Amino acid sequence: MPEVRVRFAPSPTGYLHVGGARTALFNYLFAKKNKGKFILRVEDTDLERSTEESLRMQVEDLKWLGLFWHEGVDSETLESFGEYGPYRQSERLDIYKEHALRLISSGQAYYCFLTDDDIEEQRKTMEKGQHITSPFREMDPKEALKRVDNGDAAVIRFKTSKQVKTYAMTDLVRGHVSFQSDLVGDFVILRSNGMPVYNFCCAIDDALMKITHVLRAEEHLNNSLRQLMVYEAFDYTPPQFGHMSLILGSDKQKLSKRHGATSCHEYKVNGYLPEALVNFIALLGWSGSADQEIFEVEEIAENFHVEKLTPSAAVFDETKLKWMNSVYIKKADTEVFWKGVLPHIKEAGIVIPEDDHWRFMVQKVFKPRMETFKDAVELMRPLSDVEFIYDEKALEALGWDSSKTVIDKWAELVSSHADGYISEEQFDELQNEVKTQCGVKGKNLFMPLRVAIIGQAHGADLKLIVPLMSKELLLKRAGWALGKA
Ligand code: GLU
Repeated sequence: MPEVRVRFAPSPTGYLHVGGARTALFNYLFAKKNKGKFILRVEDTDLERSTEESLRMQVEDLKWLGLFWHEGVDSETLESFGEYGPYRQSERLDIYKEHALRLISSGQAYYCFLTDDDIEEQRKTMEKGQHITSPFREMDPKEALKRVDNGDAAVIRFKTSKQVKTYAMTDLVRGHVSFQSDLVGDFVILRSNGMPVYNFCCAIDDALMKITHVLRAEEHLNNSLRQLMVYEAFDYTPPQFGHMSLILGSDKQKLSKRHGATSCHEYKVNGYLPEALVNFIALLGWSGSADQEIFEVEEIAENFHVEKLTPSAAVFDETKLKWMNSVYIKKADTEVFWKGVLPHIKEAGIVIPEDDHWRFMVQKVFKPRMETFKDAVELMRPLSDVEFIYDEKALEALGWDSSKTVIDKWAELVSSHADGYISEEQFDELQNEVKTQCGVKGKNLFMPLRVAIIGQAHGADLKLIVPLMSKELLLKRAGWALGKA
């Protein structure tokens, strides 16, 4: 069996969508499972829609997901593109042109001089299922070439068979699929600006890059007909196609912006771990086992069989993704945890100690309470070493008769506490001591204490928070509160 060679062929026209990420992931897994090659080919011949910025972002997202490719061109921008630069169709234009001219020589394609207006005119009277007919199909190629040499604008059209033929294939996901050739007319393969059209350059590249399997989205199923025609015209062997099911939102409509975040980038900046996203995306069409949902990528690759891909639509369940992320956050080590959390708390202006021991304690306490790294912002805000702005409720509690006594006692007990942090049990004991020594209980005890610790009359669970605060910080805060009491 020849080496398995698969590719991901994104068009750089925006962020990497979760659908695109699934296509990339499934090809990557298939290559990994079969010890084959995973190739990245950027389809950037649509000059109006392709941007360098989008290419860069998509590549960054692939790398973030850990989907590294195995082959490519030497890249001058190694830093941003990894070991190899991706193949880029815009750098391979000569190849497509040469192929188009070959088809003209063999009579399988022709120059067409129809203008946009001519086409518009034809469209007006066309019935459903009819195609554009070009009077230039039968033109003497030498005559046509003369016009081209004279500077007349021309596209190159593929000459489809006059007799209706059936093109058939065995789709890896969908089984037997066939198309009648008259579903399409003489389609453009090279635009007048010299740029090839997707169905043409895609088929040529897949053949020249010796791609053995093409796993891609269902919406490309119909493109297979034109691509099979191109393979046939050059006598190239087509790859095995596998068209993956649609991804739907929770309302069973095609996944779109309406459903919330749909790009990998959004998940990245919203505090998701790439491992969680990869695990989740893998389950959109693939199921390894009925009673397991958490899989390492190695395990998924090991059990990845294309026959296991379901042709029915997959539903993108954001709640499940959140849950999965919480599982991966729990599994994260201290370093991964803080790498994920720091950008969010920095952005929120939260100031925390550098201390490694403190950071170890904090991640242990908060990990089980987080679904995304963003959740750290509200959890850690009470720990931030910045001066409080007391709200009305807090000021009211500080103004009660017994509040000053309560906070004074609290500060005294904290300062005489043995050095180090106050444990949950010790905090309970200290609270009880304030209660008995001051003869204050209930709301009159808890509210001023809370304001002295977190600056608010309501909010975070003190038993969680206090053990994460240094004596110094507790005393500083008690001092601020006393200043207002
Ligand atoms: N450039 C196409 C896309 O982004 C690739 C389709 C294919 O995989 O053949 O949808």
